[in-house]
Amino acid sequence: MASALDRIERLIDGGGPHLVATVNPEFVMRAQKDREFARVLQAADLCLADGNGVVWAARRLGCEMPGPVAGVDLVQPLAAMCARRGLRLFLLGAAPGVAAELASRLREANEGLEVNAHSGGPEAEQDVETLHRIHDHHADVLLVAFGAPAQEMWIDRLKNRLGVSVAIGVGGAFDYLTGRVPRAPRWMRQARLEWLARLFRQPWRVRRMAVLPVYAIKVMRSPK
Ligand code: UDP
Repeated sequence: MASALDRIERLIDGGGPHLVATVNPEFVMRAQKDREFARVLQAADLCLADGNGVVWAARRLGCEMPGPVAGVDLVQPLAAMCARRGLRLFLLGAAPGVAAELASRLREANEGLEVNAHSGGPEAEQDVETLHRIHDHHADVLLVAFGAPAQEMWIDRLKNRLGVSVAIGVGGAFDYLTGRVPRAPRWMRQARLEWLARLFRQPWRVRRMAVLPVYAIKVMRSPK
């Protein structure tokens, strides 16, 4: 987490726009057949390993990786960094009211933090309104919670019009951080069973998660 934050800080200092992706096994599997998504991930300035599935694969394939940095765990330290550095944060996505609720929680927890929010959506009809809100706030750092791959494709499409230094796709992070979707208990996370808790609480994920065994087999068959 410390080195991820350090890298993000350096991206911000370098001006924008930069894309940061929080990659999980579902991203990897989708990118195998979705060339546009693969291109966007390849072009990202930083890809973080969102969960143990990616850390396991990376290590197995000979890549050094200290541990996962989930999008949901990144939001609070990032907000603290924004408050400390006087950077302006914008939360985009999730159901109406969710991002706004998280913004007020972050404001309470981080004195002086300039944060604003908009639920918006990834559809092109919403672009004008969304861009207006982001520009109006003079945002430096943008968190986008439209779910993958919509959030990464949206950032890529509007990258040069956002006016931010860094845009980060954070998936369902706003839902977890406002308690709309409970996170797995600590013991389950430590036992690397967060996926099981997620499946239990959101059974509709079963179709999306069906790719996980295929992912594991592909990784095991990949040359090191
Ligand atoms: N979402 C949204 N607009 C959309 C579709 C989804 O704001 O058109 C939000 C949704 O409310 C949720 C997030 O995107 O907060 C996706 O969460 P999910 O847990 O599916 O993302 P993951 O972390 O699995 O990519």
